[in-house]
Amino acid sequence: AKFVYDFTEGNKDLKDLLGGKGANLAEMTNLGLPVPPGFTITTEACKVYLDTGTEPAALRAEVSEHLDALENKMGKKLGQADDPLLVSVRSGAKFSMPGMMDTVLNIGLSDASVVGLAAQAGDERFAWDSYRRLIQMFGKTVLDVDGELFEEALEEAKRTKGVSVDVELDAADLRALVGAFKDIVAKETGRDFPQDPRVQMDLAVRAVFDSWHTDRAKLYRRQERIPGDLGTAVNICSMVFGNLGPTATSLGGGTGVAFTRDPASGQQGVYGDYLQNAQGEDVVAGIRNTVPLADLEGIDKPAYDELMRIMETLETHYRDLCDIEFTIERGKLWMLQTRVGKRTAGAAFRIATQLVDQGLIDEAEALQRVNGAQLAQLMFPRFDLDAKAEMIGRGIAASPGAAVGKAVFDSYTAVKWSRSGEKVILIRRETNPDDLNGMIAAEGILTSRGGKTSHAAVVARGMGKTCVCGAEELEVDTKRRRLTTSDGTVIEEGDVVSIDGSSGKVYAGEVPVVPSPVVEYFEGRMHAGADDADELVKAVHRIMAYADRVRRLRVRANADNAEDAARARRFGAQGIGLCRTEHMFLGERREMVERLILAHTDADREAALGDLLPLQKADFIELFEAMDGLPVTVRLLDPPLHEFLPDITELSVRVALAESRKDPNENDLRLLQAVHKLHEQNPMLGLRGVRLGLVIPGLFAMQVRAIAEAAAERKNAKGDPRAEIMIPLVGTVQELEIVRDEAERVIAEVERSRGISLKLTLGTMIELPRAALTAGQIAESADFFSFGTNDLTQTVWGFSRDDVEASFFTAYLEKGIFGVSPFETIDKDGVGSLVRSAAAAGRATRPDLKLGVCGEHGGDPESVHFFHEVGLDYVSCSPFRIPVARLEAGRAAA
Ligand code: PEP
Ligand code: MG
Repeated sequence: AKFVYDFTEGNKDLKDLLGGKGANLAEMTNLGLPVPPGFTITTEACKVYLDTGTEPAALRAEVSEHLDALENKMGKKLGQADDPLLVSVRSGAKFSMPGMMDTVLNIGLSDASVVGLAAQAGDERFAWDSYRRLIQMFGKTVLDVDGELFEEALEEAKRTKGVSVDVELDAADLRALVGAFKDIVAKETGRDFPQDPRVQMDLAVRAVFDSWHTDRAKLYRRQERIPGDLGTAVNICSMVFGNLGPTATSLGGGTGVAFTRDPASGQQGVYGDYLQNAQGEDVVAGIRNTVPLADLEGIDKPAYDELMRIMETLETHYRDLCDIEFTIERGKLWMLQTRVGKRTAGAAFRIATQLVDQGLIDEAEALQRVNGAQLAQLMFPRFDLDAKAEMIGRGIAASPGAAVGKAVFDSYTAVKWSRSGEKVILIRRETNPDDLNGMIAAEGILTSRGGKTSHAAVVARGMGKTCVCGAEELEVDTKRRRLTTSDGTVIEEGDVVSIDGSSGKVYAGEVPVVPSPVVEYFEGRMHAGADDADELVKAVHRIMAYADRVRRLRVRANADNAEDAARARRFGAQGIGLCRTEHMFLGERREMVERLILAHTDADREAALGDLLPLQKADFIELFEAMDGLPVTVRLLDPPLHEFLPDITELSVRVALAESRKDPNENDLRLLQAVHKLHEQNPMLGLRGVRLGLVIPGLFAMQVRAIAEAAAERKNAKGDPRAEIMIPLVGTVQELEIVRDEAERVIAEVERSRGISLKLTLGTMIELPRAALTAGQIAESADFFSFGTNDLTQTVWGFSRDDVEASFFTAYLEKGIFGVSPFETIDKDGVGSLVRSAAAAGRATRPDLKLGVCGEHGGDPESVHFFHEVGLDYVSCSPFRIPVARLEAGRAAA
């Protein structure tokens, strides 16, 4: 194998072998741009070293060969005493990895060559400063000496001299400092700072190899799912200096960074910073202030003009925004690095469409230049980051957005205050279904307990409402209606708070908010065609059109009411993939379900069902109307029972109090007995879903009748209802068969009495491992499957979806067991593999089986790609995530 590539030998497509930095340095070299000559040691060499503990046998000779060539080209030898060639040694993996070892500059300086450098540069101070920097960097990153020791010595030197900044130290001071630094190295490592330049270089290369295995690098890779065996390349590049002062015959120098267009807006122009008479690290050290890049034109016009030409070359060549590091040495421009640059979400969209217009990329490529996470970011109103704000705590960023309002501590107050026109933030320890009205009324929700799939988080996301949950350091006292921060600040009911659902930050007082033009556009309040339309909106509009043109996955909404359905439709939903009927029974109607569950006699039960039927039917009529012509999947009741029963503790207390007053309440007593009987330790694995339908006679029949009658009524009104009935939590085909028989009977009855055909389909959720494993059998009785990946993740991992994110997930994430919660992004290897096999088994039984997903993953970018790949027909997600799902479905197909 060949382990070393000259910059003239590589190219940008060799990132696997040369790392990102090396590949791009080679690419620029071959474009004829002024890159200081050098070479790259491959990731393959690193891999051999990491596997065997020694460099590959051929490496030394290859490095010598390339170093010879470099020395010939430069006309001087590495570390040559009278005129030294100096090099930098820099790591560069395929994926950029912050936290990995950095750079060692000025390799080749020694007690001998520092004198030569001084003579050549005509600048003694510069030479000693360069040597001091080498020992410091080399000591810290190669020899593992505590960097503080060098910093202290530097401070000491300044103190002795009575100056405050480095530049006030003169050549003699710096020479003394070099001595001090060498002493530190000798004392800390037990050997002298190496004077042989080749030894310096080899040790630096080895240190870069070793840096692949630092704890930080390992953790970073595990979290980012970067394979641990890629290795890093090492770039050896001849040094150029921006801090060689001006001489009589040439211009001065400096160093800078530049972007080929504005990384914040995408606009073309001159963007960057320049620091005169300085080296790269000086910018960071903040010794002097940088000037805008445009000022370089006045400082050094020829170099500026050349830089502008190079930037244009790079952008046309990479067909993207590039960022650049450059140095000017005595008037000569050198390119030290380039890469496709990071950008804000808004700029990503604008740049992608600008490049299409410039003919540099096509639409399919434009789709790859943006992503759903960026779109999601653009859809939420944001706090004005320039504004002053007092942060009082931080929780989990559960549902993005920026919300401001008066603190309220119960739903009743939330509703009452919002009715009188107040904006409120509902603050609870955690929420439960009883809080729904309060959540609807509030601008945002803040809880001190619970994770990303806690009730508050899931419901808030569903509503597109800002939510910060699990802010553990905030103590919520709902009785006294106050919140106490860790430093003792108290927020009383009525005090204004601001919560940022994108960062999890909580602020006291009002932080100003900027609305999202992208949402205004999706809502139809802003038109991309208008002359004065926002550039960003125009770009989003075009990218969405590309995505819709190419995607195969259809996108539906999880919506339970006409308002959500209508919004979902505006956002591009092609139907409803999940209407959770239990959401139709919260609030005032909860008691009707309670009556049903606790009914003792057939008559009681039938009366309760009779009351529910017209309400349900009216709900469905509205829903079918809002989604006219599009499919609406209505799921039959699936609540864990306890959500519909009075709280057992509260009720027990009430009964006990009444008894102690010798005034027992017969009703409460009976209720308590019934609640006791139905109480479950593990409600999520208890009497819910299809089990409820099988145990409570008439419940599912009532719901099916409501659906059928609503559909019939829509038909009569010349509508086009397309209802699909879905059975939750099925584990075996037998459950489904029983429910199906009953449902078909009811539907036939409605059809007969109305004299019409309704064409209702009946399918099931696949959300239990057993259902996934027996999907082939279940498909015998199902017209469609919808994967409930929330419950499937819960049951496959054995993770309680309500608890684990707030309890031990942080530890799991920190240990790198996973990089993201499996409730957020589908676990492809585990849960995903069940989805894949169940989809295949279902289709083997029934080739026309319709397949969808309605768990939270349906709106998650990475998961959407997975569902595309396993061949589902649609994903269903909350209304606000529909544009993201459309975009990602397009990206998956493009
Ligand atoms: C699911 O389990 O993925 C699902 C969509 O149902 P729910 O979240 O209502 O349990
Ligand atoms: Mg479920």
